[in-house]
Amino acid sequence: MLMTISQPRIITHSDKIRLTSTIRLEKEAECELRELWFEVEQEYAEYLCDERSDAFLVGMLQYAMRFGYDIKLAAPVTAELLYNLKNHLIPTLCEASSNKWHHPQIMTDITIEPLENASGVGTGMSCGVDSFHATLTHLTNEEGQPKLTHLFINSIGSFDANYGKIFKGAPTKEEIKEATFLRARRIARELDLPLVESDSNIYEVYDHRFFSKIHTFSTAFSVLALQKLWRTYLFAGTWGYADFSLHRHDRKDCAWYDLLTLNCVSTRHLRFYSEGSLKSRVDKTLYIAENSIAQQELHVCIKAIENCGICMKCRRTMLTLDAIGRLGDFSNSFPVDYYRENHNDYLRWLAKKIAKKDAFSMDIYATLLEKGMHLDALQPMIREFEQLETERRKPSKQEAKLLASKKEVRQLKRRINKMQKSASWRLTKPFRKVTKMLKGS
Ligand SMILES: [Zn+2]
Repeated sequence: MLMTISQPRIITHSDKIRLTSTIRLEKEAECELRELWFEVEQEYAEYLCDERSDAFLVGMLQYAMRFGYDIKLAAPVTAELLYNLKNHLIPTLCEASSNKWHHPQIMTDITIEPLENASGVGTGMSCGVDSFHATLTHLTNEEGQPKLTHLFINSIGSFDANYGKIFKGAPTKEEIKEATFLRARRIARELDLPLVESDSNIYEVYDHRFFSKIHTFSTAFSVLALQKLWRTYLFAGTWGYADFSLHRHDRKDCAWYDLLTLNCVSTRHLRFYSEGSLKSRVDKTLYIAENSIAQQELHVCIKAIENCGICMKCRRTMLTLDAIGRLGDFSNSFPVDYYRENHNDYLRWLAKKIAKKDAFSMDIYATLLEKGMHLDALQPMIREFEQLETERRKPSKQEAKLLASKKEVRQLKRRINKMQKSASWRLTKPFRKVTKMLKGS
């Protein structure tokens, strides 16, 4: 099966400017064409990269690996990027998926010519805790750290994936998207930084699937599409560096192995960093809670234009702000009165998560333990949910019997395998054959 990626083209689309490439998917006798595009405001047109296929190779890589395509590219690829992908990222992901993923052959010309860029330093502004942290920690160049020159907001599927199936009467994903862009503009204005607004259909090209499994690749696609602007890109990490994992990576959020991906999509001209991964979510929240813009504009909600206070992310953030003693500062952005009136419900929600050993909730609990806060109410609830968890996990009599039978079958299979590999089994093979023939005659 072959995926052919055409020479990228720059076209005007409505009042925007678009970098686009035709993806030709050949599968046996069938052939399908898909258009993958990335667009920005006209003022950023000069930074779009149509000379190289870098963005499209990274953007479509998981598609080829998941569905078994080799890749042919019409435009050359930066030599260093191709080296990183071919020698590091691709073999590692294949091996860690027990070779379920295809190892694509990549047919392309390479280029070693340096690509000039405007030395931009950017980070995504999605208005959540991670992006606020990445932004607020890079407003100056103290100790030689990269100082932000731009904020970046893109649409690579999060609005579709997170808001596509919400409840009746809720705002549409388009309304949420518009509100998020408006919020990002206000933040950029307050921080006196330009905001690069972009859009892409990469999630549609992936058939509206795999958002959480490809979002690092999709972001790298967007950044590489605009690689004549950037020298450094700070990617707000979700997990700590020490949590790096490739275990079952094909089924999990790709954020678990950002360190590998971001290193491999970096070249000497454009460096990606996983930002904030040395801090826990509580520590990041503590850092941003000081900032008046974050107090007004922090938006974590996965259900509504304003923080609803009820969804998983709102609850988690309000409990964190409460634990660090800063909830009162966020009364313009979160329903703080509602939280206080229903505090016991929030603690019960937290206790349930702690009983399930949810990582983010365990961090909040550690802070509450350190401060001796809410423990009289919280700890009996945790014990109650832990008891329920234990009972839930305890198998019934029938299940226990079935498990025992399965275990026995596995043990027998192992013994047969061992026996068939043994020397005596191989040596006695002719005798078994003769016995079989005699029995048959
Ligand atoms: Zn919410």
